[in-house]
Amino acid sequence: ASSIYNIPRAPPDRILGLTERFNSDQNPLKVNLTVGIYKDENGQVTTLPSVARAQTVLDQHEELNTDLSYLPISGSADFQSNVLQFLFRESAPQGAQYLDEDRISFIQTLSGTGALAVASKLLSLFVTKTAWVPDPSWANHCNVLQNNGFKDIRPYPYLKNGSLNVEQWLQELQNAPVASSQSNPQCIILHACCHNPSGIDPSSEQWTEILDTIHDLNLIPIIDMAYQGMDTGDLYKDAYLLRMSLDSQRYCWPNGLFLCQSFAKNMGLYGERVGSLSVVTPPDMTLKPNIDSQLKKIVRGFYSSPPGYGSRVANVVLSTSELKTQWFEDVKKMHSRLQSVRTKMAERLNWNCFSEINGQHGMFLYTGLSPSQVGILRENHSVYLNSDGRLSLSGLNSSNIDYVCDCMQKVTD
Ligand code: PMP
Repeated sequence: ASSIYNIPRAPPDRILGLTERFNSDQNPLKVNLTVGIYKDENGQVTTLPSVARAQTVLDQHEELNTDLSYLPISGSADFQSNVLQFLFRESAPQGAQYLDEDRISFIQTLSGTGALAVASKLLSLFVTKTAWVPDPSWANHCNVLQNNGFKDIRPYPYLKNGSLNVEQWLQELQNAPVASSQSNPQCIILHACCHNPSGIDPSSEQWTEILDTIHDLNLIPIIDMAYQGMDTGDLYKDAYLLRMSLDSQRYCWPNGLFLCQSFAKNMGLYGERVGSLSVVTPPDMTLKPNIDSQLKKIVRGFYSSPPGYGSRVANVVLSTSELKTQWFEDVKKMHSRLQSVRTKMAERLNWNCFSEINGQHGMFLYTGLSPSQVGILRENHSVYLNSDGRLSLSGLNSSNIDYVCDCMQKVTD
C-alpha cells in the first residue's frame, strides 16, 4: 500500500547543506569555500559593473522593464536572438550555418540546471534513458537525469590518481556491454570547460579524440557550459568545445547535439536563473518544429514560463556594445583574481598531490583532500570545503588565505 509514510528522508544536498552548517558555526575564523559563487577580494558578492549598468538602463527606460506579465513558454524572443547570436555566431562561428539553416531549437531556461532538466526530460521521453556522466562530476547531474526519467546512468572514469585519463574513459565507452548505436543511441554529458569539480580539462588534441569516439559510437553530446569565460577570461575562447563539435566537416550528430548554457557565473546572475537550452538538429526540416513543440510542452508542465527580469538584464548587456565590452572586461577581471589566488595557493601548498594545481581551470581548486581530511578541516578549523575536496577559490582573500593554508597543511601533516 502507498501512503505519505512511504516518503523516506532524502540526504541533505552535498553542497547547500554545508552552507547551513557554516551559518550556524560560531568560530570567528570560519571560512566558507563550498558554493561556486564569485566573491571579490573583500569577500563580497557584488554585481558585475556591466550588469549594474544594464540594471540602470532598465530602471531609466520604464518601457523595457514595466511588463510584469508572463514571458512566452520558451522565453523572451529578444533573449533568444541575442543568445543565439552570442553562442552560435560569435562564440562558435561554426554554428552560423546551423542558424542559417534554421536547425537550432532554443528555449530560455531556469539557468543551466533548468536546461539540463528540460533536455533530460525530452531525451528520456523520446530518445534514450541511458546517460554517461563523468566520474567525478557535479553531483546534481545524476540527480537531474534521474528526476527526469533516466534509468541507466553510467559513470565514465574521468580521473585516475588525480590526473585526466582519456584512454580509460574512451575504453569504457567502447567496451560497454550495451553499446550506443544510431537506432538505440545513448547520451553523454561533457563539461565544456572548467570541469567541476576537478578543474582539469582535456587538451584540444584529446577533445578531438574524444569527439571522434563519441561520434563513432553514435552517442548524443550534452554539452554543459556553466563556466564560459572562467577558463581563460575570454568568453569567446572558452567555447572551444562547442566550436569543435559543430565542425560540420567532421561531425554530423544524427541524433542532435544539446547545449545547456548558463549566465549564472559569467554574468553573476545566479539567483535570477538565466540560461538556455539549444538543440542542434540534423538536417531534416520536420525535426525542429517537432522538438520546439515538445520543449514547450515540457516547460508548460514544469513551470509554464521562465522569469523575466534576469533575461532583460542579459538582453541589455548582450545588445549594447558598450555594455558588452564592459562585460568582457568584468569576466576577465574575475578570472584574473581567481588565477592569482590559484597561483598563491600553489606556492603556499607545496605538496606532491598538488602538482596539478596550476593546470586546473575555473572557480575551484581540487585539493585531493580525502573526505575525512575535509571533515577535520571543518570540525577543528571551521574551514568548509566540499566533501570531494573541492574548494571555491574566490572565497579566499588576503585576510584568510594564510589561515586556510595553515589549516590545510595541518590536516595533511
Ligand atoms: N553544470 C555544472 C557543471 C555546474 O557546476 C553548474 C553550477 N553549479 C551548473 C551546471 C548549473 O548551474 P546554474 O543552474 O546555476 O546555472
